[in-house]
Amino acid sequence: MLSRDELKRNAAAAIDSHGDEIVRVAKTVEGHPETGFREVKTSALVSEKLRGWGVPVQNGIAITGLKGHLNGGAPGPTVAVLGELDSLMVPGHPSADLQTGAAHACAHHTQIGMVLGVVAGLQATGVLPALSGRVALMAVPAEEYIEVEFREQLRSEGRLEFLGGKPEFIRLGQFDDVDLAMMTHSTNTGDHRKLLLGGTNNGVLAKQVQFIGKAAHAGGAPWQGINALNAATIALTAINALRETFRDGDTVRVHPIITRGGASVNSVPADVRLETFVRARTVPVMMETAERVDRCFRAGALATGARVKITTLPGYLPLINDPHLADLYRRNAEELVGKDAVGHIRHRGSSTDMGDVSNLIPAIQPYAAGAEGSAHGADYVIQDWDVAVLTAAKAMTWCVIDLLAEGAALAYEVKAKHRPKMTKPEYLATMRGLRQEQTYAE
Ligand SMILES: [Zn+2]
Ligand SMILES: [Zn+2]
Repeated sequence: MLSRDELKRNAAAAIDSHGDEIVRVAKTVEGHPETGFREVKTSALVSEKLRGWGVPVQNGIAITGLKGHLNGGAPGPTVAVLGELDSLMVPGHPSADLQTGAAHACAHHTQIGMVLGVVAGLQATGVLPALSGRVALMAVPAEEYIEVEFREQLRSEGRLEFLGGKPEFIRLGQFDDVDLAMMTHSTNTGDHRKLLLGGTNNGVLAKQVQFIGKAAHAGGAPWQGINALNAATIALTAINALRETFRDGDTVRVHPIITRGGASVNSVPADVRLETFVRARTVPVMMETAERVDRCFRAGALATGARVKITTLPGYLPLINDPHLADLYRRNAEELVGKDAVGHIRHRGSSTDMGDVSNLIPAIQPYAAGAEGSAHGADYVIQDWDVAVLTAAKAMTWCVIDLLAEGAALAYEVKAKHRPKMTKPEYLATMRGLRQEQTYAE
């Protein structure tokens, strides 16, 4: 039986020897960006690669997702390694699809490369037989919470219930047999650091808001109308007035956009629509802020005599990195790239559906550098593929080896120390309870 160090060395060498192929796949994914629940080509490519490497794959989970398995030499717990399939919409990004505007401006293509890298590492000589348990390889759709109308349409057709990929995976039971989960997100550190531990992320919920006024001639008889755009403007001003009451430590983010401002300039706007996210570090603060934001919408309606319909949609729960899993990751990262090149992100105002997973089972989402530009921006691209894909894959592979070697003692230990925030039924009830629709008229 090889020692743990020998297993890790073999795994890293296998990732390097498959490096060109792995990076080529990541670049292919980057070249045909597809947004959430539309990742048909991306999903087919990942399936083809995994099957080509002898990994059995189940397709069509949550429309475009998939799951494969690698089995160790003995039974034991299951560690999931996740990669996200979806792109954003950022027209003007160098990889943007000219027709759809889809672009990998969050670099999820690197995650697909990482999952393949983990497979290459675990398939190295002697590694899998030395492990007890299984590794679930998950390619998950729709992490970016966008195209809400399209997803609501899929929901009305009964093709999904929640609007994100991991909540759907949870609902469909794909995490029922998973004991621990990890994935690595791309980042731009702007310095020498290569791998970073994650801390926490904000949770998020979404609101779709419709102000309903009354159309009239905007020049001839504006007094006969009810101006829905003015109602929306008052609501936005009220939200801005709330901001000074947000506590720094709660990292509240409310960032509405107007998606419809009126039908034509010579008619008093009668149908004006907004969308907003409400994000915060904890669920109670998110809920409290959401109620106060609703009050602002009602204020706009009250002032102008318009009606307002507020639809609240569940988003994602705050992310919590499991401290024991994170510590294991830190040790492996330091060994791999040196202590100076390992950093720590304490909290991010952004949100991810990995948060949902982390409320149920021990999970981590560290970061790998190698990107330049601003995430979600037209300038966010990978410049160091070795760090962004291969180093990230090695660190996760080494964690899997540590967790599942020697009878999976460490995996059992991490699991035993973990206190889940909620059970799956509690999670589903929370998510379902968040969805509501209310109409307000004076
Ligand atoms: Zn993103
Ligand atoms: Zn992302």
